Formats: sequence, C-alpha cells, structure tokens
Amino acid sequence: MPYQQKINLLDLDSSKLTQKISELALPVFTTKQIYQWIFQKHVLDFDLMTNISQKNRLILKQHFQINNIKDQKKITDQDNTQKYTLTLEDNHKIEMVILPEKKYHTLCVSSQCGCPLNCQYCVTGLTGFQRDLKRSEILLQLLLALQDNQNINHIVFMGMGEPLLNVNQVLNAIKDITNPQKFNFSKRKITVSTSGIITGIQTLIQKNISLNLAISIGHPVAEKRRFIMPVEKNNPLKKIIPLLKEYLKIHNRKLTLEYTLLKGFNDQETTISELVNIAKFLSAKINLINLNPHPLIKYQPISGPEIIKIKKYIENQRVSVTIRYKKGHKINAGCGQLATSKDR
Ligand code: SF4
Repeated sequence: MPYQQKINLLDLDSSKLTQKISELALPVFTTKQIYQWIFQKHVLDFDLMTNISQKNRLILKQHFQINNIKDQKKITDQDNTQKYTLTLEDNHKIEMVILPEKKYHTLCVSSQCGCPLNCQYCVTGLTGFQRDLKRSEILLQLLLALQDNQNINHIVFMGMGEPLLNVNQVLNAIKDITNPQKFNFSKRKITVSTSGIITGIQTLIQKNISLNLAISIGHPVAEKRRFIMPVEKNNPLKKIIPLLKEYLKIHNRKLTLEYTLLKGFNDQETTISELVNIAKFLSAKINLINLNPHPLIKYQPISGPEIIKIKKYIENQRVSVTIRYKKGHKINAGCGQLATSKDR
C-alpha cells in the first residue's frame, strides 16, 4: 500500500480501529496493546511495540501510520519556555509551546496551520492561513511534548489558529485527551481560547460540552473591535455575549475574558469600564495580556505601571483579574507570536 494511503490511527475512534484490526485478522487485544504503547508509554513506532509479534507489526505498518511529523525543531528560552516547530506531512509548519510553571508545565497547542482571522495584534493572523489541523496532528503535539517532558498537566488551545473554526477535529482531540483509556486528562485542565465564533459556541451548547473557555475581547466597543478583530463583522460581541450566557447555564466554570492591551487603543479607563461591564454580566474573570511587540504588528504594549493601574481599577470594580506575564517572547513563543519561521 503506498505511503499516502495509510491511515493515521490517531484519527480513528477506538471502535473504528478495533473494526479495522478485525478486518486485518489481527488478535482483538491488538487495539489495547497499541493504545498502551501510544498513550501510556508515548511510543509512536510500531517496531518498538515489542509485545506485538513481528509479523503483526509488519501488517500494522503496512496499513497505518502514527507519527507522520517529518521534522521537529526545538528552541528553549532563558525562562525555560520551549518552542517546537513541527513540519507536517505536506510540509506546512506549525508551532507549539511548553510553558514552565513551578510544579507542572502547560502545553499550548495549535489547532490550525496559520489562522484566517487576521487579528491585528497577532503574528499568526497577519501571516495567513494554510489549513485546519487533523485530530491526529493535534494529538501528536501532545504526544511529542510528553515524550520530551512528562510533567505536562495543562493544555491550552492558544497556539496557531482559531479552535472553534476547526471545532470537530478539536472536539475529537479533546475527547481523546480526556478519555481514561487514552490520555486521561481532566476536562478542568483543558482551556480553549476563542475570538468568539457563533457556530462554534452553538456547537458546544448543542452537544452539551463543558470546557474552560477563554474569549478574546480585543476591544469592548464593536466599531473599535472590528478594527483590530475583523471576526467582529460576522460574529459580533452583541451576539456572542448572550450566547456565552446560555453556554454558562450548562456548566459552572468561570469564563475568562482575554484582553490584549494596545497602547493608546484599548487602555483608557472608559474602555476598561466597558470591559468590566461585560465581565460582570458574564460573571467572568479578566486576564490582562500586554502585547508582545513584533515588527509586523503596528501597536505597542503599555508600561508595567500602567498595567498594574488597570488591574487595580478592575479589582476595585470587584471583578477577578490576573495579568499574564510574558514567557518565551525572546524566542517568539509568546502570545500572538507563533508563525512559521519563513514568515519572520
Ligand atoms: S489571535 Fe488567535 S484568532 Fe486571532 S489571528 Fe491570532 S491565532 Fe487567529
């Protein structure tokens, strides 16, 4: 069978894989063996699955693939943030980042190759869109990170792309990440960051899927938001906010409003006051992110004292607020800095 016709078994549900295993006349317990190697030992090479007979490994290799990442490069920042650039089967590149914490690490995964949304404070958006990632390509990011670093206990869909524009593949990947037979992560340890896609949020409501959601606000006023987030045109905050209120009814997790601060554009007290109103209406917390500057971005960050002043203002309004401190910006691994290296 030619290489390109092989199925990536990470794209299959376990029932589908079991069916294929049975069609190939392999023992029924082969699925369980494969899953133990992949999800418990992070082994992605059939040749290393030594409790499967050599003859059966050969059959598996003829029909399936697992790790189809062609190349993987890693750079580490002084603060120990690690950025990986992965070359996919079709030569497109994606990036993922491991953010170190004291006791555990957070993995920031990509859901698309590039991004079509063109947010004006994000290099990924400014450098175009290639395609959606497959479920296997999302899961491989986690597997490669786990091979390298066993201490990951938080996964955030905040890398390249808008996860809710690739909602089916993202939800299938999350199903595997939380599956006790597979990665067995708690849903509480997974956060999906979105710029607010109406159809995507409707899917979460219809399918009754509870996730930690973080919504990028950009600017609380529609005309201004549209200026830096073109997504506002077809997915306006005035429709997103009631939808989020509805979403909140299906679970008890606090929403996070992500707010990237752009000097002179969205840092005025009147603007922050509008942001606070949205947070109060949604009982959400606010995460302040100072812009990571980049030559392609025409905005500038605000100063350290200014961000503290904004935080205090929000706290005084009795809204929960945090500041996301910069990590990995020296290796272009910070928020909004991910892109394929040819784009730099
Ligand atoms: S901020 Fe997110 S949604 Fe906006 S362009 Fe960047 S990757 Fe896409």
